[in-house]
Amino acid sequence: MIKYNLKCENNHEFESWFADSKEFEKLNSRKLLECIFCNSKKISKTIMAPMVSISKNKQNNEFQINEYGLDREKRKLLKLRNYIEKNFEYVGKDFSKKVREIYYDKKNKKTIYGITSPKERDELKEEGIELLSIPWIDKDN
Ligand SMILES: [Zn+2]
Repeated sequence: MIKYNLKCENNHEFESWFADSKEFEKLNSRKLLECIFCNSKKISKTIMAPMVSISKNKQNNEFQINEYGLDREKRKLLKLRNYIEKNFEYVGKDFSKKVREIYYDKKNKKTIYGITSPKERDELKEEGIELLSIPWIDKDN
């Protein structure tokens, strides 16, 4: 099973489970998927939540990686990092300020990433702003 974040032409976002990525493509090409808010059938897949906070501090890492899985996990995280760097705007330590600007301005669809402290993450969560938090892997080690 795989969970996708989906988005309709009116920018409604919702989540749905599929057996695999082929099932999503199949259902979507037959127009069998529709938005849970407006019933639009123009659905696309968003790869991840638009807000990403990165943690450079090892203690904040939410992933527990054992020796055996390290290389594989690291490669995945590096891929993720490259994707984020290409598609997201880096806002550094202003992240929690910027993320609020975007969250409360519904027309603003900017995708950003930056650094938050655990405290800031908790505060944002209380306001209903869900973040995707990933460990930031160094490219050269
Ligand atoms: Zn919709």
